[in-house]
Amino acid sequence: MINSNKLYKKIIFLAKDLSILTKEILFPEKCLGCGTIYKKRYLPYLCQNCFNQIKTHSFPFCPTCQRKLPFYFHRRTKKIYLPSCYHQGKNQISWLGAATDYNNPLIQKLLKTYKYQFIKEISLTLSAILAKYLIESELEKIIKKEWLIIPIPLYPRRERWRGFNQSELIASLLAEKFNLSLKKDILFRKKPTKEQAGLTLKEREENIKDAFEVKKEVKNKKIILLDDVYTSGLTVKEAAKVLKKAGAKKIACLTVALKISQ
Ligand SMILES: [Zn+2]
Ligand SMILES: [Zn+2]
Repeated sequence: MINSNKLYKKIIFLAKDLSILTKEILFPEKCLGCGTIYKKRYLPYLCQNCFNQIKTHSFPFCPTCQRKLPFYFHRRTKKIYLPSCYHQGKNQISWLGAATDYNNPLIQKLLKTYKYQFIKEISLTLSAILAKYLIESELEKIIKKEWLIIPIPLYPRRERWRGFNQSELIASLLAEKFNLSLKKDILFRKKPTKEQAGLTLKEREENIKDAFEVKKEVKNKKIILLDDVYTSGLTVKEAAKVLKKAGAKKIACLTVALKISQ
């Protein structure tokens, strides 16, 4: 278990010279969790106390049945062994790293404010939550260096409307922190899709089918797909399908919040 306050300081330190936050970071002083007005410049929209209280998972999941996959870390060989689920053979995605549960109201509030009130700065807060998860679950030991990180792309029109791609900002912060290479020129969305939320499963499948294309060589690459929320996993699986076809060796998924499907 690592010291939460120490981690918090580390993350704040990282935030100081972020190139993605082009404007000066003007943190509002009200926490979305407890409403406290905080004076110092901490994570945007989240006080230190509420950050420390967010429960992050300590393991990855099976992308199909969402079963926990607690892995075994071999101290001597420094290798991590992931137990496999019986779905493993069918999955295009080897494991799903999900920092928290979507049913946490504070997480929902952060995500919604970020995406629908267009508060770019919250990318920092969400990536801090993901960083906490990656460190505490020791997943960071698996993903260092040789992995590429690819944010789920938006259709250009959607990105212009929002002003940013919510997954891309989070991915770029994580890439910086965990020494991964961020790739924005590989995966593209070739058709405009509706938001998956609010559609039936059948409509979702239809909506996302053939939505992505790969424009660059990915032979033998290990790829982390980053999406802000993971529900049915259809979006990520569709993206994984084209990447596998283009020769990717291994694909994993990272997300801020996992919405347990019924
Ligand atoms: Zn708070
Ligand atoms: Zn499974």
